[in-house]
Amino acid sequence: MAIARVEPLTTARALRGPFDYLLPERLGEVGVGSLLRVPFGPRRLLGVVVDVAERSELPPERLAEPIEAIEAGVSPELVRLGIWVAREYCSTPARGLELVLPPGTVASGRALAAKRELRAEITPAGGAALDGAVRLGSRQQAVLAALDAAGGEVSAPRLGVDRAALRRLEARGLVSLREAVVRRRPEMPEVGAAPRRVALNPAQREAVTEIVAGLDGAPGELLLHGVTGSGKTEVYLAAAEAALRRGRGVIALVPEIALTPQTLTRFRERLGDEVALLHSRLGPGERRDEWRRLRSGAARVAVGPRSAVFAPIAGLGLIVIDEEHEASYKQEGDPRYDAREVARARASDAGAVLLAGTATPRPESWHGLRRLELPQRADGHPLPSVEVLDMREQAGGAGPLHPRSREALAALVADGGKAIVLLNRRGWSPFMDCRSCGRSFGCPRCDVSLVVHSHELRCHHCEHREEVPAACPDCGSVSLARHGAGTERAASLVSELVDPLPVFRLDSDTAAGPGGHAEILARFGRAPSGVLLGTQMVAKGHDFPEVGLGIVLDADATLRFPDFRAEERTFALVAQLAGRAGRGGDGRVLVQTLAPDAHAIRHAARHDAQGFLAGELDRRRALRYPPFAHLVRVELAAAEAREAHAAAELIRSLLAPRLPESTDLLGPAPRFRLRERHRRQLLLKATERGPAVAAVRATVDEAARELRSRNVAISVDPDPS
Ligand code: ADP
Ligand code: ZN
Ligand code: ZN
Repeated sequence: MAIARVEPLTTARALRGPFDYLLPERLGEVGVGSLLRVPFGPRRLLGVVVDVAERSELPPERLAEPIEAIEAGVSPELVRLGIWVAREYCSTPARGLELVLPPGTVASGRALAAKRELRAEITPAGGAALDGAVRLGSRQQAVLAALDAAGGEVSAPRLGVDRAALRRLEARGLVSLREAVVRRRPEMPEVGAAPRRVALNPAQREAVTEIVAGLDGAPGELLLHGVTGSGKTEVYLAAAEAALRRGRGVIALVPEIALTPQTLTRFRERLGDEVALLHSRLGPGERRDEWRRLRSGAARVAVGPRSAVFAPIAGLGLIVIDEEHEASYKQEGDPRYDAREVARARASDAGAVLLAGTATPRPESWHGLRRLELPQRADGHPLPSVEVLDMREQAGGAGPLHPRSREALAALVADGGKAIVLLNRRGWSPFMDCRSCGRSFGCPRCDVSLVVHSHELRCHHCEHREEVPAACPDCGSVSLARHGAGTERAASLVSELVDPLPVFRLDSDTAAGPGGHAEILARFGRAPSGVLLGTQMVAKGHDFPEVGLGIVLDADATLRFPDFRAEERTFALVAQLAGRAGRGGDGRVLVQTLAPDAHAIRHAARHDAQGFLAGELDRRRALRYPPFAHLVRVELAAAEAREAHAAAELIRSLLAPRLPESTDLLGPAPRFRLRERHRRQLLLKATERGPAVAAVRATVDEAARELRSRNVAISVDPDPS
């Protein structure tokens, strides 16, 4: 008797699988990772086999049989990974498994079919017919002539005749027909000059040697710390080639597809069809076909954003995490996984090398991973000099631009060249109030200020929008003041300064338009001179040698966030923007700030990651933050503040007795109201991650029913940012 233990793909927390099913012969080969359709009470559900056993605790007459096997499914390694994610991130097995299954399976409840088409080719008899051996109608004549001219197979839709007509020609022996599987190929954005093949410099060679030693011997976790422009991508490519030569597969994670077209292009150009692209903006067919190519082994390199960490690659040798400091590696819905942590777990399970690369490492990686250093830019140019401009001296309506920034920008008009200006805040002004009565303008659904855009007031946390009022709704005064500057206002000021040079604004408002992000970057790239101005998007990924000037406005904006990663983010943002300037020669960077002495800003101005990280690690140690403790955040959200609070107290009381002595349990603390939901949070600081997550998991399972009946949503974030 064979028993399949099946985890049904339903997100109800109350269901505790796996459930046993009897495996009949008719299903063929079924193993761990197979997808089955199973009867489940009155329903039929998709399920994944997570184990196969000889016997069940239930008597055979109580065991149901699966209805059908859906398709090959996934490897046992991926099943382990999906279950691991579900456990580590306090989610359900179904949500964890969904991540590793063929794309679209769970949503559609079936396997998406491969695309097929009919193809025709002319036969020798057909050729003879064209030469007059057989009488032909004029349509038939035309089809045969087209096939003859093509000199090979032509897809039926392109011939402009229906299938029946082709079948008649086939019956007469004039054409041969076959059904072929069509591969849907994703379009690759083409950005940047065609890369030449470069000889690695000594630092790059040393890094590759270390990685290859890991492939051949003891795999480990490596941090490639290379300053901006030091040629990290060349190291990834050489390492990937080495893995492929050893018959091993590769996953290369990039922070976000839109921000990394150059990396993508370079992987494709170097490794060709071995590369499959996996990301959510592909069409369902393309995504499915790329996924299949990986599972079949036709492609052995997966490139994509965080979800590509689940790529179905057997014999994995290397996982690359490019720009490992990027926040986009964190998933913001259930399960709230961190792809960097998943990559570590997967690499360790598969015996693969983990390679995280960046110019601005996270404290966790600096502390925990073995370092490989690329201390210099690959093109031999020095890093640009950085001046910190103290904006406290500029009080009194001087506007958002320091005189030195104004001069440097104005000089572009006469001297040519390009500049990048970073202001990490979109809109015209971050807020507005009434000069007469002091009324402010907030979102009716969230406890935040509305942001002034050129035509309306908008909430940046929900979809709420309203017209900019002509007068104060409270006192009728028309004296409404807009405070501070966002990218819209900065772009308008800079346009005046550099007129007639073009200013390209890049933020999520402009990137949402036609062509989006890549098109704006491409236009900036083509312009002989001009300014690229925008949010953090302008500081990422691209490589424009003509950019000589970089300016950061309000560099301490990110420091004011109440978040233990504020320092690390500020450092990364300023250092990354500085890294965009001077790639083709001398560069100059101006950093405007109200906090010129802040640790993050001082060190970023010196391109000094090591100094920043040493101080930041001391601070983290003293405050018991990662990597010296593990954090778990639990958030409760409800329509009424008191319900959210009561639920948080309930969770606290259930959780506290389950926690190890050394764990701090903080809260409930309020978080700002969001989309009409009042929120409270609990924060755990634990010495060890495992027991803390287990305690939260048990608590959430115990309270799930109660919370649902009270209409309170709970979310657990074991790697909060
Ligand atoms: P990073 O990812 O470290 O910022 P890139 O990999 O984008 O840097 O490389 C920056 C530039 O240096 C690219 O134009 C790349 O072609 C070039 N480059 C990389 N390695 C070398 C090398 N060994 N010799 C010459 N140029 C190189
Ligand atoms: Zn007023
Ligand atoms: Zn809102």
